[in-house]
This record gives sequence, structure tokens and C-alpha cells, in this order.
Amino acid sequence: MKIAVVGAGWAGLAAAVRARQAGHAVTVFEAAPMPGGRARSDDAGAAAADNGQHILLGGYAATLALMRSVGVDVERALLRLPLSMTYADGAGFALPARGPRLLAGAWALLRARGFTARDKLSVVALAAAWQLRRFRCPPGLSVDELLRLAPTARVKHRLIEPLCVAALNTPAASASAAVFLAVMRDSLFGARGASDLLLPQRPLAQLLPLPALQWLRGHGVDVHLRCRVSALERLAQGWRLRVGGDAPSRPGADGAAFEQVILATPATAAARLTAPLAPAWSACAAALEHEPIVTLALEAPPRAWPAPMLALDSDADARPAQFAFKLGPQDGRVDRVTLVASAAGAWLARGSDALAAAAVAQYRQAFAIAPDEAVDCVGVRADKRATFRCSAGIVRPAARIAPGLFAAGDYVDGPYPATLEAAVLAGEAAAAALDR
Ligand SMILES: Cc1cc2nc3c(=O)[nH]c(=O)nc-3n(C[C@H](O)[C@H](O)[C@H](O)COP(=O)(O)OP(=O)(O)OC[C@H]3O[C@@H](n4cnc5c(N)ncnc54)[C@H](O)[C@@H]3O)c2cc1C
Repeated sequence: MKIAVVGAGWAGLAAAVRARQAGHAVTVFEAAPMPGGRARSDDAGAAAADNGQHILLGGYAATLALMRSVGVDVERALLRLPLSMTYADGAGFALPARGPRLLAGAWALLRARGFTARDKLSVVALAAAWQLRRFRCPPGLSVDELLRLAPTARVKHRLIEPLCVAALNTPAASASAAVFLAVMRDSLFGARGASDLLLPQRPLAQLLPLPALQWLRGHGVDVHLRCRVSALERLAQGWRLRVGGDAPSRPGADGAAFEQVILATPATAAARLTAPLAPAWSACAAALEHEPIVTLALEAPPRAWPAPMLALDSDADARPAQFAFKLGPQDGRVDRVTLVASAAGAWLARGSDALAAAAVAQYRQAFAIAPDEAVDCVGVRADKRATFRCSAGIVRPAARIAPGLFAAGDYVDGPYPATLEAAVLAGEAAAAALDR
């Protein structure tokens, strides 16, 4: 079949690769000059800046398989570390690299620093309760409500809340407990290695977007970059695409007809394009709310870090960032550090200067940096619509919009929050649905 894929983020790339592998004639339309969407780099260079720090998990089976399909050496591209939630002062826990899962968990808990015996017992009680309920709960329950009985305040603030905001980009007070439990089930309590942290060793573009682009073009797929789809028209059999954009010419792109279309744009663009065709679906997509993620680059005096990724104590008043990363080349004279502030809407409302000043003060405090030592914020990057807000009771749009028209993207109905894995799974599901 003649298939159009609109959008070359990770969902669109997954859909295009899998549809081509299934033998379809595929054309990709992407509004931006680079593929990758929200997980993109600014250019194709080895030192390109990314649209925010991303981490993958060992349980991202579909994403890792797709990367391998297009020729990425996953073991070299990603640094694999056992899950840890370590703070700058050394408090926290780290899973050991080897050992049976249950034993490894018990060992990590036993050795966890900064937690009392009562804290540790409350973690055991919580884990047992989740397992007993098979990681299920009513859809309208929030993570805060889920935690009401079990853990101590310290476990809640230093363990569960950072995990929740990192995974769902939504504060525990309003986050969906059902989605949070699905993440816990398939990562922390999932297959061996599923909870491992996979930290990118190269710009995001080289993890999937550019290798996939090369693979697609090498397999006869037309990929039109800088080519925004402005309208979809229903034909007696199939769909016609209207395109705009700033590319000088794209012969044959505007007005081309396709038997089936996969819309792999963000929810807002999909809602706009489908409003006249599928109003109920469009309204559901348009109703999703979004949360920002802010990534800050700091230069700070060198310190020994217990791990390349550290948790930070955060709060709504003075400490915006939940995690700090020290990755990439370091020259020993200055630490080049990335801080991530998720669910940062209230912080952005105060302005990025106020946010940067608070993050620098937070970093100074966490690493006990003396007043005469310089800590500079050298970059602030805010993605205001980083992911949909994964609230309790959320209703997400279905993958099938109309006959021959499918949605693919991290927001499409599924068990996981907005992640690379959710995007890739949605892309692959849309490609598989074409055959039916
Ligand atoms: C700062 C930040 C940090 C994140 N951290 C993590 C993390 O650590 N781990 C994780 O798993 N996930 C993380 N995420 C989430 C992850 O990036 C997204 O879930 C994923 O990239 C979504 O992919 P997608 O293909 O569904 O959508 P998108 O990436 O939004 O792709 C949609 C594409 O459609 C294109 N498009 C839009 N309109 C049109 C049109 N009319 N015509 C043609 N093309 C169009 C866009 O240009 C874009 O390329 C993070 C996101 C952000 C922003």
C-alpha cells in the first residue's frame, strides 16, 4: 500500500521503518529541518545540543530493538548503569549490578543510606501491597492517594515523588497511580535489567533519528523535511495531503494521494488536522494538557560524584530541579553539569532568570559549594509542551482515528506515560494496524 507518515519524531520513524519492512511504499513528511521531534538534536554534529536531557531504561525493549534495526550500536551509544537514586551527600540506594532481582532489591534496601529501619520497612510493605494488587488500581486514583497509607514521609519525598515526576512529568498530587504502577511493574519489578538506566553517550540525533533517516532513504522511502502537512482530505479511497513549509521545492509532495495515513505529530497538531474529519477524536486529543521540562546547563567547581546521575531534593518554593547529570567530556577544572526540572510550569511562570538563579542556589546547597566559588548557569532550555500531563483519570485518544487514518505518538492510549518507548510502541502499533 501507499502510506504517508506525517511527523518524523520517534513515533513516526518507528512507524515508517516498520511499515517499510512490511513491504509498503512509504513517504514521510516532517515540518522541521531535522528528524527526532522532541528527542532531537540541533544539528547532525558529534557535539550537537539536544532538546533536553533524555534517559532510557533497560525495559525500553521496542526502542532498543528499533535502534538496532537501523544499525545503531546500542551498547556503545548508551551507558548502562544499575538503577540508583543517590543524592549528592551519598544518601539513597543503588541496585547492585548483578544478582537475582529479589536479592538485589533487598541488598540495595539494606545498604541504603539516609533511611531509617522504619523507612525501609515501609518500602517493603509498599512493594508487597503493589505486588498483591498486581500493580492495578482504579483509574481515578492519584499517586498521592496511592501512598496515603504506606510509606514514611522520607520515603515519599526522597524516593517515590522523584520517581513519579521523572517517569510521568506530573507531580504525585495529581499523577495517575494506574500509569505509575504500570511503570513500576515493567521497570523496577520487571524483567532482569529492565530498571537499568541507559544514559546517552552521543547526541540524541545519533541514537535514532539520523540512522533511521539514512535507513529509510536507503530503502527507497521519500522523506520530505521542512514539509508541514497543512490539511488532510478524505478521498473515495484514501487520503490527499496538502503541504506547506519553507523548503524551496518538494516535487510531488503537495496534493499526493495515499491509501492510508499515519499521523505521528504531537496531539495538538493531530487535533487540528483531524477537527473537520473526526471531531470526537480531535476533541479528545485537544483536551490533553501539557507539562514543561526545563534543562539547565551549569559550570561548577569540580566535585567527586558518587554516580553520573544524582537525585536532588526539590520543592515548589526554592528548589526546582529533581535530577543532576555529569555526562560527556570533563576537563577536571570545571564540572559541566545538566540539571533537569520536570513538571516545571509554576517555575517557568516566574521567568527563566528566576528559575536559573534558584537552580544555581539549589546546586550550591546540594554540593556544599562555598560562596567564593563560582557556579554559572550557561544555558536554559525550556520545552513548554514537553509531555502531556498524566493526571489521574486521564482519557487518551485511541490509535484509530478513521478508516485508513491512524494516530501514533506518546500521547495515544496505552499503559505508559509520554516516553520514547511509548512513542515507538505507538508507531509500531500503527504500522501493524495498516495490514488489517
Ligand atoms: C525536555 C524533554 C525531556 C524528556 N526526557 C525524556 C526521558 O528522559 N525519557 C523518555 O523516555 N522520554 C523523555 N521525553 C519524552 C520524549 O521526548 C517524547 O515522549 C517523545 O520524543 C515523543 O515522540 P513523538 O514521536 O510521539 O512526538 P514528537 O517528538 O513531538 O514528534 C512529532 C513530529 O511531528 C512533526 N510535526 C508536527 N506537526 C507536523 C505537520 N503538520 N506536518 C509534518 N510534521 C509535523 C514535529 O516537527 C515532530 O518532529 C522528554 C521530552 C522532553 C521535551
